[in-house]
Amino acid sequence: MSAVINRDPMGLVLDRLEGVRRSGSGWIARCSAHEDRSPSLSIRDGERGILLRCHAGCTFSAITDALGLKASDLFHEPLSAPQRRQRATRAVLKGVVAESLVVVCAESSIRPDDQARLKTALARLRAALSLDGLQGRKEIERIAAFASRILAGEALDDTEREALTECTEWLSWLITDENKAGYAARLNGEFKHA
Ligand SMILES: [Zn+2]
Repeated sequence: MSAVINRDPMGLVLDRLEGVRRSGSGWIARCSAHEDRSPSLSIRDGERGILLRCHAGCTFSAITDALGLKASDLFHEPLSAPQRRQRATRAVLKGVVAESLVVVCAESSIRPDDQARLKTALARLRAALSLDGLQGRKEIERIAAFASRILAGEALDDTEREALTECTEWLSWLITDENKAGYAARLNGEFKHA
């Protein structure tokens, strides 16, 4: 366990660079490892740490040396157990959304080939339900129930079809907190007064 708390590798790097400006989802700055007039160092936040790339071709270690940093300073703190769990359930939820879309498509037109895929979708949805701490459980249960009815050859009525679409939409909004807030705003705003 590292004793350092609140490590901010991005802040550490940006503080040492000159000519930093925003570029897309990352930053660009003047490279410290060579005589750089135009910003040619791109800095991005990667999954495991900070990614540095000099367009003039300086190596990663030349850049970190020039910055007075060790490569390990650029890595993110390993995820805690709850963070890892949260990331895992989020990944499952993404899968659930994909499987829910299979159910939605199967509902509108099911061909013999789709039966097997729909069965897989149902199995995956049920597997997701066995996980603790998964958001959208109620919606997933409903989608799974619809899937087994479609598999049994039953047709959904208009209300049920709408519910299937809504549950799927809700799950896809759950994937990002930003979307979740947006969706809640929509629910409280336009839908409430509709
Ligand atoms: Zn360079």
